[in-house]
Amino acid sequence: MTSTVVRFGLVGLGKIARDEHLPAIARTPGAELLAVASRNARAAQLRNYPDLPSMLAAEPAINAVVLCQPPQARFESARAALLAGKHVFLEKPPGATLSEVAVLTELARAQRVTLFASWHSRWSAPVAAFKAWCTEHPVRSVTIRWKEDVRRWHPGQDWIWQPGGFGVLDPGINALSILTEVLPERVRLTAARLEVPANRGAPIGATMQMQTASGAPVSAEFDWRQTGPQTWEIVAQADGASYRFAQGGDDAASLAPEQESTLAPEYRAMYRHFVALVRNGASDVDLAPLQLVADAFMCGQIVTAEPFVD
Ligand code: NAP
Repeated sequence: MTSTVVRFGLVGLGKIARDEHLPAIARTPGAELLAVASRNARAAQLRNYPDLPSMLAAEPAINAVVLCQPPQARFESARAALLAGKHVFLEKPPGATLSEVAVLTELARAQRVTLFASWHSRWSAPVAAFKAWCTEHPVRSVTIRWKEDVRRWHPGQDWIWQPGGFGVLDPGINALSILTEVLPERVRLTAARLEVPANRGAPIGATMQMQTASGAPVSAEFDWRQTGPQTWEIVAQADGASYRFAQGGDDAASLAPEQESTLAPEYRAMYRHFVALVRNGASDVDLAPLQLVADAFMCGQIVTAEPFVD
């Protein structure tokens, strides 16, 4: 293991970059943020560039790039960064397609640099306890309910409604990342139904039926039309016992100045992990959540829903 300092350039200064990546990098030993590349936004007190190539050309000290753009816009940046010999940290989901992430994985290996396909929800503290419970109890069934108000959490995000943005399965993949982390067996999709508004290119609601390798049923319900209390829960049943995992959420804008967001510990843990990956010369790319979403788009029944207006 080396003591390399990871000197980041960040691409795509949007909501998650401002809310979580900038503060997490600032608090990670062994990590520094040198510059930002974003077409429209600028970060205070940092050097700013309009795009990745100009940032890399002007900042040779950058040895890692974190990509916070939407999935549809990430592949070319990831490829360019890897070809330039930089370590790469991908926001979730790691790509808009499985095949593009396979290309990146091989390229990272050939370039001998780190590729990290991050799944922030796996790093929340309660996930470890849920995983321990699923290891100790043979799980007989799992029910996921992931229901939120899209107007509250994704206002004006046009990309999320386009093909490759995944619609309600953008937050839904977080639940699937937890599922595939805590269960000791692989999960396969058996059926899905995607409700796509007549004026949009991605689903507003979805159901997925799955099975573990040993045949335990897993059902999931995702909905973006839930106003009032929000629901993010996964319930696992074993013989005579059950476990309820629930997640909270907050709007960064509603937090008090010194108050930490729900996601802050997850992002700090991911940056510590990334520094360790770089120092150990390792990569971390698990595609299980993306495979389930891809299977749902491949085999799911598509039904047309009411037009959706922001
Ligand atoms: P966002 O607010 O829309 O920001 C994305 C930024 O990427 C934009 O501000 C834009 O900045 C840049 N960009 C580059 N190419 C783009 C394109 N073709 N279309 C749109 N923007 C483009 O999105 P976000 O919420 O930060 O989400 C980004 C990624 O983080 C997504 O994969 C999402 O799943 C993930 N994520 C989001 C959250 C969350 O709470 N929002 C939580 C965890 C993970 P410029 O115009 O300046 O280039």
